[in-house]
Amino acid sequence: MIDPWRRPGASTLAVMDELLVDCRACPRLVEWRERVAREKRAAFRDEEYWGRPVPGFGPTDAALLIVGLAPAAHGANRTGRMFTGDRSGDFLYAAMYEAGLASQPTATHIGDGLELFGTRITSPVHCAPPANKPTVTERDTCRGWLEQELALLSPTLRAVVVLGGFGWQALLPVLTAAGWVVPSPRPKFGHGASVTLAPATEGKAPLHLFGCYHVSQQNTFTGRLTQEMTAAVLTSAAQAAGLS
Ligand code: SF4
Repeated sequence: MIDPWRRPGASTLAVMDELLVDCRACPRLVEWRERVAREKRAAFRDEEYWGRPVPGFGPTDAALLIVGLAPAAHGANRTGRMFTGDRSGDFLYAAMYEAGLASQPTATHIGDGLELFGTRITSPVHCAPPANKPTVTERDTCRGWLEQELALLSPTLRAVVVLGGFGWQALLPVLTAAGWVVPSPRPKFGHGASVTLAPATEGKAPLHLFGCYHVSQQNTFTGRLTQEMTAAVLTSAAQAAGLS
């Protein structure tokens, strides 16, 4: 079993992703992701579910990182790619396309031709949790992977968009570990919140951090979060990252 706290550091994101997909450190999430993959939703009964940890998606030299919450049971846990195959992903990729960060507005399956421009998407918890709610212990157990992803992206990373308060809370300590100064008291999450983090060491670039409501149906169906609001945050972040 891979323990994210004890594993040797991977030298590249590709190596990290290879290790990540074999991780079984959270018993409740392993049981859930595999059960969902066996039982399936009726609409997808002829498909083979991924049923494993879902790695980050996008270029390994990204300047912009989008941080969500966790894979959806019948979305990324089925397709194996972040935010793919569910309504949240439909919403996110349409907004990314509008902001010039994705090659197409839809994400249906691996092999659908989707390409991200200078942007990577990840989550603080890499396995689908029951009711989309990981526990604090599960979040902390998965933190080693996020720390490593941030460390490997760090040379090119200039901006981060965090989708929702869970990701914001999970990410701030990781940013400190990755070499940026998080002010005290910690900046609060909110839609449109933005803060620039100074580097802790000379020669490292500052990091622009943006908050955006999560693209869950709870927010998008109720109109709390619109496509325009999401695209506006992504456009600001893309500019801060030097992508536009
Ligand atoms: S949530 Fe993270 S730490 Fe837990 S089993 Fe999945 S990949 Fe491993």
